[in-house]
Amino acid sequence: MKEEMYCESCLMPIKHRDDLVTVWAYFKLRPYHSACYANSLKGAATFFVSNTPINGFSGNFTAIVAFLLAWIPLFTNITAGISVVCVLIVLTRLYSYFTYEKKLPL
Ligand SMILES: [Zn+2]
Repeated sequence: MKEEMYCESCLMPIKHRDDLVTVWAYFKLRPYHSACYANSLKGAATFFVSNTPINGFSGNFTAIVAFLLAWIPLFTNITAGISVVCVLIVLTRLYSYFTYEKKLPL
């Protein structure tokens, strides 16, 4: 049994992982087609929409940097708040992967 995944913008099913962009918007992780994501950025409704995709290269890069930064307060006097924020970023990335990306074929 295969689970269908629908784009939040055009409501059509998303078929491939290449075509998927997950974005944190309106306090929820939402799947979009890459084309719909590009279009929605041009609209006015981007106030609550994070302009950064969770998946893809930039998302992976952000997650890796966040993972590394999360360790810094353990060895320095920098506030542990950085760790909390970084761990949240990494968890969001993993959540996106297991909730959406893993279910789609490459
Ligand atoms: Zn779409």
